[in-house]
Amino acid sequence: MSNAMKSNQLFEEAQKYIPGGVNSPARAFKAVSETPRFIEKADGAYIHDVDGNRYIDYIGSWGPMILGNNNPVVLKAVQEAIVKGLSYGAATEAEVTMAKLVCELVPSVEMVRMVNSGTEATMSALRAARGYTGRSKIIKFEGCYHGHCDSLLVKAGSGLMNSGIPDSAGVPAGCASDTLTAVYNDFDSVERLFEENKGEIAALIIEPIAANMGVVLPDPAFLKKIREICDVNGTVLIADEVITGFRMGIDGAQGLLGLKPDLSTFGKIIGGGMPVGAYGGKREIMEMIAPLGPVYQAGTLSGNPVAMAAGIAQLTELKNHPEIYTHINKLGAMLCDGLREIAAAAKANCVVNQIGSIGSMFFTGEPVTDYASAKKSDTAAYADYFKHMLNCGIYFAPAQFEAMFISNSHNEENIKDTLECAARFFKV
Ligand SMILES: *Cc1c(COP(=O)(O)O)cnc(C)c1O
Repeated sequence: MSNAMKSNQLFEEAQKYIPGGVNSPARAFKAVSETPRFIEKADGAYIHDVDGNRYIDYIGSWGPMILGNNNPVVLKAVQEAIVKGLSYGAATEAEVTMAKLVCELVPSVEMVRMVNSGTEATMSALRAARGYTGRSKIIKFEGCYHGHCDSLLVKAGSGLMNSGIPDSAGVPAGCASDTLTAVYNDFDSVERLFEENKGEIAALIIEPIAANMGVVLPDPAFLKKIREICDVNGTVLIADEVITGFRMGIDGAQGLLGLKPDLSTFGKIIGGGMPVGAYGGKREIMEMIAPLGPVYQAGTLSGNPVAMAAGIAQLTELKNHPEIYTHINKLGAMLCDGLREIAAAAKANCVVNQIGSIGSMFFTGEPVTDYASAKKSDTAAYADYFKHMLNCGIYFAPAQFEAMFISNSHNEENIKDTLECAARFFKV
């Protein structure tokens, strides 16, 4: 058992002052009935907790740390930025550099607005789509998470699935009543909603690769039909690439899958570890946004110079080193193929979904293609697995319905160590 004395003490104290002791439920370890480990520092492929334990990090801050923790290039850019002042609330050159970079890297993005989180990005993209179309209703998919904005907290996967809360309290019925939910990978369910709500659907928002009900891959034909039905109905297609953006390749899941969204949302990687989000897309829609157009959206700290420095440095590294994707994708396949083999050898009911540098092992014997099939996972079995792995120094997501993230700092040795530890859990 890894020593967690100091983490336990801190958690006791934290719970007195912070709801649940954490500033985001995904960190709570509640779904695996454990004490969250309090982290002191992170470096490369590792994170270190306050009790001196070192773990191979498969969270990477839930995706942002694609280059590995404490990447020297990103760190240097931040260090150079901070001495010039932390925030001005005025226009900077860094914002122009960032916007040009995003438009260059993601061809569907003609204009982009920076915000401070993925939640803000999706919330603002929806508002833009509603302003542009003059319609109210939106379609989302069961098990897709788009941040914690009111109208999107319906069957929202991830933290809500892990906590057993289907939909959040505190969301007025009026806010959720314009949110229609369809079934991921089931085009008929989408078509039905369009038929029942003719001329009323402002936007359809989707994770082009779902990663918040665990990793669930899209059927390419399904995505193609979604693009078509949005075109036919004048509905804005929003690709939520907060996880997949700049991870599935420099142009994200849309590049990998050949999807052409009208708007895209970004977060996580785009900030290099700083609190950043962005939304962008067709000029015609983005020109609806204030001060140019009537859709209001603002932010005191948006485009913050330190955050821009981190994000620009990270995106530039990714742009200049395409071999990073080769490396992380190879390790992703190595990890997930290995887990699949181990589970098969143990005749365990496990399914491993993987694409590129993200993957999930579900404790179910049936294919996981949507929310309902993901929900069949044995979360108690996942909790046992998680605890075993944590005790051997492997830090996986503390809940079943999340992804494993691989960074450029991971190496084959890390993957081998991880697989050896998993093999001991499955007794093979
Ligand atoms: C993490 C995430 C969000 C929310 O981003 P925050 O920065 O946590 O607000 C939105 N959409 C997707 C797909 C995400 O994974």
